[in-house]
Amino acid sequence: MASERTLSIIKPDATKRNLTGAIIDRFERRGLRIVAQKRLRLTTEQAERFYAVHAERPFYRSLVRFMTSGPVVVQVLEGPDAIAVNREVMGATDPAKAAPGTISKDFAESIEANSVHGSDSAETAAQEIAFFFSALEIDP
Ligand code: GDP
Repeated sequence: MASERTLSIIKPDATKRNLTGAIIDRFERRGLRIVAQKRLRLTTEQAERFYAVHAERPFYRSLVRFMTSGPVVVQVLEGPDAIAVNREVMGATDPAKAAPGTISKDFAESIEANSVHGSDSAETAAQEIAFFFSALEIDP
């Protein structure tokens, strides 16, 4: 299986509750390698741009407010089938629908404050990685 890269975000609800290490452990245990990582606080403008695809959704303003409410950890995960493996480790967007053992089930507070983001396709992974990292910042 071809090696892929995907963008992962540990969201403010999780950094606030000191869950960064516990979440990273889930990724590493599944064989995903962290090839770039940084902690930052998104500005409103950056969060709006990152979630622009949801601009017309009723939860957009609330989502932008949530994503700027505290620090996030953004990282590039690499491995065979990394996009799908990451989504599997994350679990369903809505913790009420998430399978046992997933990050969503074990850590998420709500459908919005759901602890992690993961790219949903190869195309969005490339866009989202470029949003946060330059080529020089990613371990070759
Ligand atoms: P993803 O594919 O799991 O990233 O989910 P979406 O792209 O559909 O939504 C992006 C993010 O918006 C999710 O990770 C949640 O943080 C938030 N979100 C999704 N659906 C809802 C909703 O119905 N209400 C609220 N408040 N937030 C939502």
